[in-house]
Amino acid sequence: TDIKELLLSRIRDVEDYPEQGVVFKDITPLLADPAAFTALTDALAEIAQRTDATRIVGLEARGFILGAPVAVRAGLGFVPVRKAGKLPGATLRQAYDLEYGSAEIEVHAEDLTANDRVLVVDDVLATGGTAEAALQLVRRAGARVAGVAVLMELGFLGGRARLAPALDGAPLKAL
Ligand code: 5GP
Repeated sequence: TDIKELLLSRIRDVEDYPEQGVVFKDITPLLADPAAFTALTDALAEIAQRTDATRIVGLEARGFILGAPVAVRAGLGFVPVRKAGKLPGATLRQAYDLEYGSAEIEVHAEDLTANDRVLVVDDVLATGGTAEAALQLVRRAGARVAGVAVLMELGFLGGRARLAPALDGAPLKAL
């Protein structure tokens, strides 16, 4: 489709970043193009409205850049999921495995309630580990999962299969 071509044309492949053999998908050209950034925001906001979400959870850091305008456009609240140690209030913390080692993310416990349905927004779904941990946080906070929406899914890394149990039937949408 037209929007898919527009978005793809504004994503830059950076070879050997952040390490040898990895091709990094750089979205900064897309963010710098107002037509592309607006089209992306509108498409993600439409998904949010279709899923009946009440909150957008954005994953640090590029999920903040995409998730915040989506929340405003869809008329929803925005909740940041941050790397551990950055949020000042009472948090829930979730560990997850990386290729080498592990990482932890956090959310303010009081930002999500049993009445919330949460759409998790990020730029790239790779192995799915980050989004899986975010969905676990959403459920531990007592909220329901409306789905996951990303700009781009790197299908060869198998993130969709990894996420399936945590999604429990909720949609994963990749533009
Ligand atoms: P995962 O946990 O699915 O393996 O990795 C996804 C997370 O890493 C996302 O938060 C995403 O921003 C980041 N990430 C992984 N690979 C890429 C990439 O090629 N480009 C961008 N922009 N982010 C990536």
